[in-house]
Amino acid sequence: MKIGVLALQGAVQPHKEKLIKLGVEVEEVRHPSDLKKLSGIILPGGESTTLVHLIRLNGLWDALHEFVSTKPSWGVCAGAILLANQVRDPEQPSLGSVNIMIRRNAYGRQVDSFIRSLTPTAFWKNKERIEGVFIRAPKIVELAPGVVPLFMDEGDVVLAEQNNCLVSTFHPELTDNLIIHEYFLSKCHESSNP
Ligand code: GLN
Repeated sequence: MKIGVLALQGAVQPHKEKLIKLGVEVEEVRHPSDLKKLSGIILPGGESTTLVHLIRLNGLWDALHEFVSTKPSWGVCAGAILLANQVRDPEQPSLGSVNIMIRRNAYGRQVDSFIRSLTPTAFWKNKERIEGVFIRAPKIVELAPGVVPLFMDEGDVVLAEQNNCLVSTFHPELTDNLIIHEYFLSKCHESSNP
């Protein structure tokens, strides 16, 4: 199985390392042709406005839009902003494959980064808490019916899924735990071998 990591900007390397540890092939995605033969893609954290600009500059917008609408796709932080169908603070274009409203930089300027223990919802497979690293993180402020909350931080949904897509406002690639990467790979397996 081959998994893509959008490699235009941001935290690409730590995702690659986790995926390799989990035994899958990794493709760095920069151009439309890189999306061929992928079982899924991770859109990593970084700066979403810059990512929108670079995706367009590389002629990747339409192909990526098509991919995330149909195949397993996981947006982390800035990547979650790219997948949300409504972006605020400020509004900006997005690929819109997850029916959520997301507010950028929602934790304020002075508190840019923090680590907190996250609580699984009843929809998650077990009751184990995980550590969440938040870096100038957005907040999911609205979820449409059909978007399933999977992990919470003090009343806010920080990991959610809708059909083929997963969004997290924290960075699972920056902790030792492999559980969210494993979960994403299980979605990729399922969709490749239905
Ligand atoms: N603040 C960034 C944005 O709004 C996201 C930060 C991140 O990906 N860690 O795009």
